[in-house]
Amino acid sequence: MRTLDDLLAEGVSGRRVFLRADLNVPLDKSTRAITDDGRIRASLPTLQALRDAGARVVVAAHLGRPKGAPDPQYSLAPVAARLGELLGADVPLAADVAGEDARTRAGALGDGDVLLLENVRFEAAETSKDDAERGELADRFAALADVFVDDAFGAVHRKHASVYDVALRLPHVAGRLVATELGVLTRLTRDPERPYVVVLGGSKVSDKLAVIEALLPKVDRLLVGGGMCFTFLAAQGHGVGKSLLEADQVETCRRLLAEAGERIVLPLDVVCAPEFSAEVETTTVPVDQIPDDQMGLDVGPRTVEAFGRELGGARTVFWNGPMGVFELSTFQAGTRGVAEAVGAVDGLSVVGGGDSAAAVRQLGLDEAAYGHISTGGGASLEYLEGRQLPGLAVLAD
Ligand code: ADP
Ligand code: MG
Repeated sequence: MRTLDDLLAEGVSGRRVFLRADLNVPLDKSTRAITDDGRIRASLPTLQALRDAGARVVVAAHLGRPKGAPDPQYSLAPVAARLGELLGADVPLAADVAGEDARTRAGALGDGDVLLLENVRFEAAETSKDDAERGELADRFAALADVFVDDAFGAVHRKHASVYDVALRLPHVAGRLVATELGVLTRLTRDPERPYVVVLGGSKVSDKLAVIEALLPKVDRLLVGGGMCFTFLAAQGHGVGKSLLEADQVETCRRLLAEAGERIVLPLDVVCAPEFSAEVETTTVPVDQIPDDQMGLDVGPRTVEAFGRELGGARTVFWNGPMGVFELSTFQAGTRGVAEAVGAVDGLSVVGGGDSAAAVRQLGLDEAAYGHISTGGGASLEYLEGRQLPGLAVLAD
């Protein structure tokens, strides 16, 4: 796979670069303000290197899930503004994705200038299953530039026009973020230093079963918290009250527990409440005493201690998924405790998953304590599952 350094060595001054970046940041529902700009900041090294080298950069990105047509709610305008602030340069936003305005503005770029295209998902063809439809859009992308740099790690698991098809049409290289993310994932999959401990949380066990199956043979310990732990607890025969439960996965969890033996570690206690609210009264109970009329919304202090002990001896750690509903302050302690233990690991610690990365920042934890905070939740999980990612496969050719 060729990288940005190969391209820089070749020289990009005056050349037009189509840069696919991952700028899919969370926005406040009412004000549309960016609530976490981590992904924009992660895109800066590649972008800055291209500007410094005198490239004319056309940046493409998606935001949220618009329905294949322009929708002001999903405009990249707030992202263009933030990107401009961080770069200390003007970042104009094209009025369209790859239409008249994009073409005119791309043609007028000077050396070191940056243009942001409007949300690529405003074009239905971007995510189409039809190769010809995506191809037509990719032709228009390719016409905007001479070379393709893919730095959108969070989108490499998608066979989309701006990720996959454009690489079939232009000389292509992997950007710095893609290279960094890949380097870290390789260290997690090829001969990781042991003990290797994986911590999984988040809401749905069904989302993460494939990665559990793939990782189980490789890890020394798999610590399970978050909403997904209740399906495992139910598989052990515990009542879980009104907690999140995926009844159709109980059997699978039972099989996994039998296969894994002591390698799967479940919570010892949970913080329960009668409803989903920050102002509610909570009770912390052992996992075999969850009241029928309550739901478990965080792991308890004994669990944090037990998980902390496992993490304390680990040399390689991958953490995906919050331990509780960290968005509500009442249910933050479990995620905070585990996040701190992951940060204290003497070895390689990797945080993957949009919500987990956001939790680290929202809880005010030191990002520098982690070996790596991945920008791509779905992409890193699919990589760890051992699947082929279309956006990476196409760069390797
Ligand atoms: P990531 O984005 O890091 O991969 P997920 O998207 O899988 O994480 O899960 C994040 C969500 O899981 C959070 O919104 C959090 O509130 C929720 N969650 C965690 N614990 C629970 C719980 N006990 N009950 C319900 N939801 C939970
Ligand atoms: Mg998430």
